[in-house]
Amino acid sequence: MITHSFSFKKYFLFVFFLLFSISGAQKKFTIVLDAGHGGSDHGANRYYSELGTLREKDITLSVVLKIGRMLEKDKDFKVIYTRKIDEYPSLTDRTTLANRSKADLFISVHVNANVKTSPYGTETFVQGPDQNKTNLEVAKAENDVIYLDEKDRQMFASYDPKSPESLIALKIQQSKYLESSLLFGSFVEGNFANKDKRFSRGVKQQNLHVLRLNAMPSVLIETGFISNYEDAMYLGSDRGQNEIAESIYDAILSYKKAIGRNDTIAKSEVEKPVEEPLKNDFRILLMSSPSKYNDNDPALKGLNYILTIKENGLYKYYYGTTNFASVRDNNIKTAKEAGFRNATSISFVPNQKLGIGYYTIEIAVTEQKLNANSYMLNTLKDVVRTKENGKFYYTYGRFSSLEEAVKAQKTLEDKGIKNTVIQKNLK
Ligand SMILES: [Zn+2]
Repeated sequence: MITHSFSFKKYFLFVFFLLFSISGAQKKFTIVLDAGHGGSDHGANRYYSELGTLREKDITLSVVLKIGRMLEKDKDFKVIYTRKIDEYPSLTDRTTLANRSKADLFISVHVNANVKTSPYGTETFVQGPDQNKTNLEVAKAENDVIYLDEKDRQMFASYDPKSPESLIALKIQQSKYLESSLLFGSFVEGNFANKDKRFSRGVKQQNLHVLRLNAMPSVLIETGFISNYEDAMYLGSDRGQNEIAESIYDAILSYKKAIGRNDTIAKSEVEKPVEEPLKNDFRILLMSSPSKYNDNDPALKGLNYILTIKENGLYKYYYGTTNFASVRDNNIKTAKEAGFRNATSISFVPNQKLGIGYYTIEIAVTEQKLNANSYMLNTLKDVVRTKENGKFYYTYGRFSSLEEAVKAQKTLEDKGIKNTVIQKNLK
């Protein structure tokens, strides 16, 4: 129930990043080349007597290095590789690298596979809502590797794709980069089809982890099916890999030209001012209720980062904390979309001391009196018990500011005393 300050901070930084990190005036057109899979994650693989075992991770690396060599000849380009050898950077590492470098384009190269040998051809994915069911198979294969890495688990755990927060974040991201991503994807698939005479399955939208957190136009290119004989022979050959690399390289040139980001424009580009923080903190009041809801209660409609403050016998549920207007407005939107139609933002003066009264922490409400040997009463000193309408209320501590109470609540949580509520006593 307490604001999970760490994860919230992460979420906040994420949204903040999406909103304000517009790549500033950059001289070079920066491209992140991501060779899919690597290390212990082989990706798709098949054995063919002609070529031995073909592994996705080797093909993607080879293609990416070829694209990189072509780009590096041109001083207008800066190339960043997520890997240059047979290793496995986590998806988080790949995304973080791309975001930190403020890249203009993120290209993840992959190889497709199917249980049947019939499907063949290329397809390019951009981040977006699922369009059809067949895409789900690709999403699953490419997303599964996420569970190889502990860092990914932590990073993505807070972005449950079903949670309203993620949907909002996705929407922001999509609207901003979808068009450019689609444009680049269409150049790639166009080259595959027209120059290389491959069968293009087109540009599709899909919710893929490796693209999801990128703050730049991003695509994931499936360069062919390793499960199909003709495709596999092509993917495993030098000729095939060269053609694929050249087609992607040409697509980069066309894309750069199309969006007109040459040096002259980049220099004259005005950098967007960074948003100034507000004086007060803002929390979104979701509802007031005589009932107490713990984290994950359906009544909270999937929202996280809830702070509950009890006042005059009513539990008030607040969502999110921020001192940025844009994040506050976004939080209201999230709350409303989650179903709290009357959600409003409430301003809090940071570290304000209560003139009259104090904050305390309600640690338990029980029908029966707690045993003196209970963990709670043994662990905490000076617990106050009051009886009201036949119920026992246990409170702990006196704090003059909300922040102190939040801090104390966190300490209680670390001791295993959870689902407590901050109570504001105005007397
Ligand atoms: Zn792959």
